[in-house]
Amino acid sequence: MNRLARRMARAIEMDGPLSIASFTTMALHDCEDGFYASRESIGARGAFITAPEISQIFGELLGLWCVQSWRDQGSPTPARLVELGPGRGTLMKDALRAAHIAPDFLAGLEVVLMEASPALEAAQREQLRDAPATTRWVSQWDQIAGDWPLFLLANEFLDALPIRQFVMTERGWCERMVIVDATGDLAFALAPAPTPLDVRAERGTAEPGAVYEISPASQGLVEEASRAIAAYGGAALFIDYGHEGCGYGDTLQAVSRHKQAGILDTPGESDLSAHVDFAALGSVASNAGARAYGAIGQGEFLRALGIDTRGTNLAERNPGSADGIAAAIDRLTSKREMGALFKAFAILPGGAPPPPGF
Ligand code: SAH
Repeated sequence: MNRLARRMARAIEMDGPLSIASFTTMALHDCEDGFYASRESIGARGAFITAPEISQIFGELLGLWCVQSWRDQGSPTPARLVELGPGRGTLMKDALRAAHIAPDFLAGLEVVLMEASPALEAAQREQLRDAPATTRWVSQWDQIAGDWPLFLLANEFLDALPIRQFVMTERGWCERMVIVDATGDLAFALAPAPTPLDVRAERGTAEPGAVYEISPASQGLVEEASRAIAAYGGAALFIDYGHEGCGYGDTLQAVSRHKQAGILDTPGESDLSAHVDFAALGSVASNAGARAYGAIGQGEFLRALGIDTRGTNLAERNPGSADGIAAAIDRLTSKREMGALFKAFAILPGGAPPPPGF
């Protein structure tokens, strides 16, 4: 047991079982031992590598996506460009560099980065030292201010938000909790009493043993973003690995040094994430008065935005890197790699033209 696991065990002994959501929040965000307390969490040397760390083209295309969506809505000024969970700051750096083709977009722009980890915020501040627009950092959604058109990017952010899991039993849906077992180790157990759950009928009838996941944090955030976009304009783009329209299934996973790890084994030393239920988020967005697009495969999305042409141009200017660029594009787009599992999902005002790529 590591130090964080021992602290969790003491908390459980004093206050009772932890929900998976509380366990995840401690494992990821504990300020001493949480996974994101270290800036080396993401990247080639970290636990996992993300699309913006694979190729600069990813962030560039997302920056151009924002510029085009902004133009489609009449180039409103001022406007806000927000990134949720910016990691090492690479995506925003690449997006702003690409946005130089639209000085009018940059001129009236406030950039806001929402980051919970002080270590990663420091890395982002270094990357964005010379950002071409006013830039500020916040740690929570309500510090962003929702009175301007909102252009929002979030890559592999929703999967890091805590989920709750419920298992179908003969008593109904019982929440999966983290307890301390007889040997003193952290273990999973079901809450004795069922939770009344509003599982939508289109999801079919659950067999005993079926697992159902919800992410109240993701739903709350998408609701707030959708309301702001419906009221003031803008566009949100979420890219993440996700479900094809079903909240059933146990998708919680731990990854340490690019390999699967036990969820309860070494909390804080591995990344914890869960697949995003885009169908549920689409309903949240429409109920909040906005329009949802997707989710579509990341490969299809990046191809529609012109990743191949951009790759060819980049390779012509850097012939020595041509093979590396081609390999990175393959990794981002092919179905064997990230092209199908990762999906793009967008939210726009009801009457706005459809966003690029959808
Ligand atoms: N978007 C980046 C990083 C993905 S990892 C990339 O693609 O490389 C998830 C990021 O979200 C990290 O920066 C993490 O610190 C941040 N994060 C996770 N939960 C958060 C929360 N509740 N509030 C703010 N940031 C959070």
